[in-house]
Amino acid sequence: MSKLALLGGEKSVQGNIPADLFKWPIITEEDEAAVLEVLRRAGMSGTDVTEKFEKEFAEWNDTKYAIGAANGTMALQGAMYACKLGVGDELICPSKTYWASAIQAFNLGATVVFADIDPYSLCISPKDLERCIGPRTKAIMAVHYLGHPCDMDPILEIANKYGIKVIEDISHAQGGMYKGRKLGTIGYVGAMSLMSGKSFATGEMGMVVTNDKEAHDRALAYMHYDRNTSKNISTDYLLPYLGMPLGGMKGRVNQTCAAMGRVQLKYYDERTTEIRKAMNYFWDLLEDVPGILPHRTNEAKGTTMGGWYAAHGIYKPEELEGLSVQKFCEAVSAEGFGTWPGGNYPLHKHAIFQTFDAMNTGKPTRVAFAERDVRELDKDLPVCEGIKIYSIPWFKKYMPEYIEMHANAFKKVAENYKDLLDSDPNRDKDVISGRWHFYAHHKDDN
Ligand SMILES: *Cc1c(COP(=O)(O)O)cnc(C)c1O
Repeated sequence: MSKLALLGGEKSVQGNIPADLFKWPIITEEDEAAVLEVLRRAGMSGTDVTEKFEKEFAEWNDTKYAIGAANGTMALQGAMYACKLGVGDELICPSKTYWASAIQAFNLGATVVFADIDPYSLCISPKDLERCIGPRTKAIMAVHYLGHPCDMDPILEIANKYGIKVIEDISHAQGGMYKGRKLGTIGYVGAMSLMSGKSFATGEMGMVVTNDKEAHDRALAYMHYDRNTSKNISTDYLLPYLGMPLGGMKGRVNQTCAAMGRVQLKYYDERTTEIRKAMNYFWDLLEDVPGILPHRTNEAKGTTMGGWYAAHGIYKPEELEGLSVQKFCEAVSAEGFGTWPGGNYPLHKHAIFQTFDAMNTGKPTRVAFAERDVRELDKDLPVCEGIKIYSIPWFKKYMPEYIEMHANAFKKVAENYKDLLDSDPNRDKDVISGRWHFYAHHKDDN
């Protein structure tokens, strides 16, 4: 099996791959019936199903409150609003994430300071936070990136020292734990996407979670004008504004999604337990292969990866004589599993964070209301720009034979890397790779 498929050898991944191995979300007649029930009574724009789902979700997530939102982007903006992020304030966010961890700060007149990531967790680096903090820093966006929980203890320690709030972006990691605590229970507020590509899938929906009543009231009154009532809101200074959306937004959920979410929640732990078993088996098979480093947690310490959304591996070109991650991915793809390099392209490289004047002030919005040119801080993000990662299969079923087949594709390329060195135009070069977003429909857009 040593001749690489890219060079004319046999493919590692062959035969009929069972559809269940990758199929997600898992939709049964129970989901269908729940959605139809909403449709048939025209309950799409109500809030009764959403409120039931919120209650169940809060209980599952170990938080006092959960608030549904139309999507994750809205949920995260609601979380920023909960933190009182406002004109001239700064939000610290890792540069390597999806745009909806950050851009909404613009809508609040705030700006984003990009922090570097840790090369093993791929999450915001607590060591880089103090560099990023200024007099106007209001909140830190702790993105549990590609399913891996952030190192929350040192993040909170710094946040508390400077009086800064922490938002958890749980879009990649629903159900994950940090040292035995559910993600979303650790920061001041958590928010996430539940869109159909994520591990917790409902269609289009988001969720805010918190234990803090003021945060709850601010987020609810921001996203839901029709629930901004004396029954739900008790924060004194918000009481004169009942009945209106605090920021002119509307985040109501289409209840077909909430109905599906209630069904998905019932099976989520069982299904993600199987995903974890399958994914850990994949990495066990590759544990000591040069060039390839698992991106996962030590579960024995109570830190887990939830549903392993958008699973990736870390690449070590120095262990393969500088073979580029681009060539590595090309060769693995030829073995029969399509992989691509880079994850999210670092956000600070996009012109929207450098020059775009979204608010017609005559200045780039990133600095229009800021007290300092926060773009200067973008110059110091070596890990975000230099890290090499690649997508790996996202197994939904523990099917050892097929998992071994896929692991072999990666192993074969790593073990035969010498055969690729001469045809690699990027060998020893530091090429940034990645995509602005990687939802399936947009795979070829950038
Ligand atoms: C998907 C995602 C979001 C946004 O969620 P939508 O439901 O698509 O609006 C936010 N943050 C991260 C990290 C995401 O991956």
